[in-house]
Formats: sequence, C-alpha cells, structure tokens
Amino acid sequence: MKLVKLLENYQVRYNFSFLKPIIPPWNIFQQELPGLSISTDGSKINGKVGGAFVVYNNKSEVHHQCLRLSDNATVYSAKLLAIKRATEYAILNGLSNINIISDSRSVLLAMENVNNIDAEIRGTKNMIKEHPGKITLHWVKAHVGHIGNERADELAKAATLRTDADHMVAFDSRFAKKLIKKEILVVAILQKEHIFNLICGSLTADIRTLGNFFLNQNYTGHGTFAVYQARFFGIPTTCQCGHPQEDRNHIVYECPLWNEIRKKSFPKGYKNAALGLLLANSISKQGLISIMRHKLQSDLQPSEEED
Ligand SMILES: [Zn+2]
Repeated sequence: MKLVKLLENYQVRYNFSFLKPIIPPWNIFQQELPGLSISTDGSKINGKVGGAFVVYNNKSEVHHQCLRLSDNATVYSAKLLAIKRATEYAILNGLSNINIISDSRSVLLAMENVNNIDAEIRGTKNMIKEHPGKITLHWVKAHVGHIGNERADELAKAATLRTDADHMVAFDSRFAKKLIKKEILVVAILQKEHIFNLICGSLTADIRTLGNFFLNQNYTGHGTFAVYQARFFGIPTTCQCGHPQEDRNHIVYECPLWNEIRKKSFPKGYKNAALGLLLANSISKQGLISIMRHKLQSDLQPSEEED
C-alpha cells in the first residue's frame, strides 16, 4: 500500500523530528526481544471486529486475551484497544520492562502526537506513563512472519466470530468519517470520466475545470479536508501524517506525505504562491490534482491496517 511506503520514506527522511518530544517513545521492531513482550492486533472481517493480545516470555506464549468489539468499531479502534488491554494486563500483574508490539502505525502515530485529544489515546498514554515499570511500544510490519503479530492477528480474527460483543464502542468519529468518505467516493466515481479527461488534457483548461471534483476540493477548501468535516461532524482534524490540522493549506503546501509530488510539479518558492497561481500553471495544477487523488485514495484505503 502506497501510504505505508510513503510513511516509511517519510519516517526515514524526517525521523519525526519536527514533532514535539515523543510520548511515549516507540521503536521500529528489529529483532526478537528478550524477556516479556506483548503482541497486539485488531481485525475486521465481514463487518465484525475483534482485538487480541498475546503475552510471550522469551518466545513462549504464556497468556492471551481476545475480545469482540461492537460492529461500529474500526480496525484502528480494535488495535488501540488491544494495546490498552495489554497495558492494563502489564499494570495489573505488576510487570516491568514490557515491550508492547503493534503493527499499526496510525495508532502509534496518534499516541505520539502530543496534540491528540482522543480519550482512548490519552488514557492509554497516561497508563503507560504512570506505570512504574517501563513499557516500550514497538511497531512491527504486518504479514512478514513475526510470530507474535501472526498469533495476535489470528486471535483477533477468531474473536470476530464470537456471538456477542464484549466491548461496546461509542459511535465513534472515525466510523462517521469513513461513512462520509464512502459517500465522497461515490461522487468520485461519478466524476471519474471527467477527471480522466482532465488529466489527459482533452478538456480545455478553462474556469469550468475548477468544477472538477478534486480541484473543487482544493479550490474551496471543503470536501475531504478533515478540518472542514470536523466543523460539521465533530470528527478529528488530524491529518494522516499526524499534523493536528488537516486543512487545505496543510495539504497543498505543507503535508510531508506529498513532498514528492510537489517536488515534481510545483515551482520553486511555491510556498509563497497563492493557490490561484498554482491552479493557473498547468504543471502545478496537475500536481494539485495528483495530490488530491492520492489523498482521497489513501483516506479511503487504510488497507495495511484493515485485516
Ligand atoms: Zn499531513
């Protein structure tokens, strides 16, 4: 999945140094960890959502827990809940020096983001911070044969088959956001032919092309931008890169996820160029279309997390 690749490049290139101090720190999983580790995962199958964690002591499984979440839960919330439950387990059992492993970058990024105000994120972070024993978070790539990750994945999938939900998730904002995005996708499909024509340059680039779906998003600052949606639906304003305010300015001029596209198509000094100027130039206009297209696609397919 492209987004994950982008995030990987982005991590290497930026090392997140523009963010405030990381709380709590998380590492990229490198090798089997000695001592106690807890692998966590969440999964959604056929509209049912499950989460699980598995405790290992020097590679031997010593305990696991799994649970089914209500159907409105997302894979993201299942993965977050699995981390939370693993943390609770470590605290209840007075464990120290615990490595908690997750394959969800979005959850880890959300935990790292000091501006994130989500109650579940904050609660979990506080538990980790206040626990006298050290808890370290790690990210592991999914589906590359990490034993704990595979096992947690299997247990999370099995949990979706339980008759009843063990954990009710309040109708959460991400779920709402997703529904909204699905509707946007329908519009996008309707516009597909028009966009194709526009990208292939078979339409004259007159003012009417600003009616193009993606450009329209850009031009008005509405549409898929989280900040705009948040105004109406009370959903988070966070960008996929972790920036707290996903608005038009951020996406067009700042978001590191789209640096490559900007580099290829925007003029030097674009930061000082008004959006109208970028739209007036055919190359930067294609760049804008490309950014919006990629953004929509990745908004709609957090696929690496969706299993
Ligand atoms: Zn961003």
